[in-house]
Amino acid sequence: MAHYSYKRAERAFVPYSFQCEQCMQQSGPLQAEITGLAAESMSIATEKDREKLQRLAHRNLVMRMHDVYDKAANKKVFAKEFRDKCPHCGKPQSWGIAVIKNDIFVGPVAFMALGLMAVMLSCFVGALHGEEQVATFFRVSLILAAAASVVSVIVSLIRIAWKKRATAGGMQKNLPQIEWGAVWNLIEEPVSQKKGR
Ligand SMILES: [Zn+2]
Repeated sequence: MAHYSYKRAERAFVPYSFQCEQCMQQSGPLQAEITGLAAESMSIATEKDREKLQRLAHRNLVMRMHDVYDKAANKKVFAKEFRDKCPHCGKPQSWGIAVIKNDIFVGPVAFMALGLMAVMLSCFVGALHGEEQVATFFRVSLILAAAASVVSVIVSLIRIAWKKRATAGGMQKNLPQIEWGAVWNLIEEPVSQKKGR
């Protein structure tokens, strides 16, 4: 019998709007779709399994929402789900730059983690094959991971430069108006420490 794992992610919609810095028009009502990390379970056979998966998915959404709120309210970093493209003139907004800067090392961290996983795998395979292949695999994994990291940072820098240029001519610097009230229950909810009963 095949072994499936069940995934479940919870999401919430945060209403927001902004005044375009370029054409000065109001965006009208928009929604940011915030999704929590998917929870995973090997079984949903019983009611208890299903409840646990549901609880974990909800907890992940609460954690994500705390992070989104904290960054927006305290650092003026608006999650990428708050799209900054004006519905009228299609131009980006200056407040959309901060999140690219904030996430600049997300790619490199992921690539280096993959590289390290490959290195660990090579050590494991090394037990079966010669040391020479391991050394080569070791080197290739790290070089590829480092190259991917550098490319990822360069892409982010290009996106920042492009957006800075595209938003430079704005009449004024605005910020999005976010209706946190719609998700206040999630922002207020403490993250449960229990990983499941
Ligand atoms: Zn506009």
